[in-house]
Amino acid sequence: MKTDINEFIANLEHRTPGENEFHQAVEEVIGSVWDFYEKNPRYQRAKILERMVEPERVIMFRVPWVDDRGEVQINRGYRVEFNSALGPYKGGLRFHASVTLSILKFLGFEQTFKNSLTTLPMGGGKGGSDFSPKGKSDGEIMRFCQSFMTELYRHIGPHTDVPAGDIGVGGREIGYLFGQYKRIKNEFTGVLTGKGLAWGGSLIRPEATGFGAVYFAQHMLHRIGKDIEGQTISVSGFGNVAWGAISKINELGGKVVTISGPDGYIYDKNGITGDKVEYLLELRATNNDIVSPYADEFGAVFVAGKRPWEVPVDLAMPCATENEVGLEDAKELAKNGCKLLAEASNMGCTADAVDFLSEAMDYAPGKAVNAGGVAVSGLEMSQNSMRINWPREEVDERLKGIMKAIHETCVSYGTKGNKVDYVKGANVGGFVKVAEAMLAQGVV
Ligand code: GLU
Repeated sequence: MKTDINEFIANLEHRTPGENEFHQAVEEVIGSVWDFYEKNPRYQRAKILERMVEPERVIMFRVPWVDDRGEVQINRGYRVEFNSALGPYKGGLRFHASVTLSILKFLGFEQTFKNSLTTLPMGGGKGGSDFSPKGKSDGEIMRFCQSFMTELYRHIGPHTDVPAGDIGVGGREIGYLFGQYKRIKNEFTGVLTGKGLAWGGSLIRPEATGFGAVYFAQHMLHRIGKDIEGQTISVSGFGNVAWGAISKINELGGKVVTISGPDGYIYDKNGITGDKVEYLLELRATNNDIVSPYADEFGAVFVAGKRPWEVPVDLAMPCATENEVGLEDAKELAKNGCKLLAEASNMGCTADAVDFLSEAMDYAPGKAVNAGGVAVSGLEMSQNSMRINWPREEVDERLKGIMKAIHETCVSYGTKGNKVDYVKGANVGGFVKVAEAMLAQGVV
């Protein structure tokens, strides 16, 4: 009754036609864990992988709202509750015009392994909407969030499913979503993470994904006898993740020379330091989704319509969205001397870029590198359950410890000679815990 890998993939594609991003994410994981799976008849008998690629539940709903002109608008909302073997479903909400079921299934699937790697008790989920916050007023965003939660509230809860932010969902949106949940349920609980500090949020949560990514990159560098200090680094995006990463890199003595948006990229040879870092948040708060104003403000170069991977750097950190580094970009990075790529975005590199990068340099995937965000969300849940707030140093120490543990897991499952296959290490390391928990819990 042995299935082979090609049969498995063909079957998946047949059952989920057109879900390309989801197929890409599954194929990457399956490619890493298949050998391990084949050697474990216990897993095969229980059809662990076949069960893992099927979300436990998918919720799709209508989100009607009224814009500032009084016109009725309709968007589609989703929550993909992927896997609850390790704990309540946990993962962000993405509000972006590009959101589809395929994208949320890829993100929810990845989230399951990422959350497993954090060492904390969290299952995997993801949700969002094709609503674009670009150009929307504050009132429109509030009304949209309220309508979204008016349906979502019945599917989530602090012991069931705990959403958070992602692209297009930051502190403001979490506030509006939380307010509506509290109003409907008449309950003040830790049902969302990324909350404001005064009402149940955790210190370091806004910076956590970026900080964690830099701590992870630091471990990768130490392994090859280097350090962040003195490195020239390219970053993409200009949102929360980029902001956190740039702040930490500056603190550790590295130099970030790029950021990017949908309109192009900025090259600042003097480094994105001091006030320029806070300016990124101001830029983001305008809801215009463009990065070019930075060039006028600080006299830097703006390159329209391109991504920053043509700039020579020592280390590249994609911090924007999926598939933002293609094969040609990867080749350009290697040709210009880049030694390491740490993916702070989710699935930031295309599959062929990953194959190339894994040979050409040290490459680590998003599910390991960016796990600091959801890890601090897990710490926010712990603090909410205990009804206390830990000081900044305590959260930061725990985050550092978690990123170190994730790096160790990657090294222990991914070492090949004197190289570490971080893709394999993260996939197998994340998979084993989920698989064991599913086996223990029976066929459910
Ligand atoms: N959206 C983030 C991620 O991709 C954070 C999720 C969370 O905090 O639940 O991991």
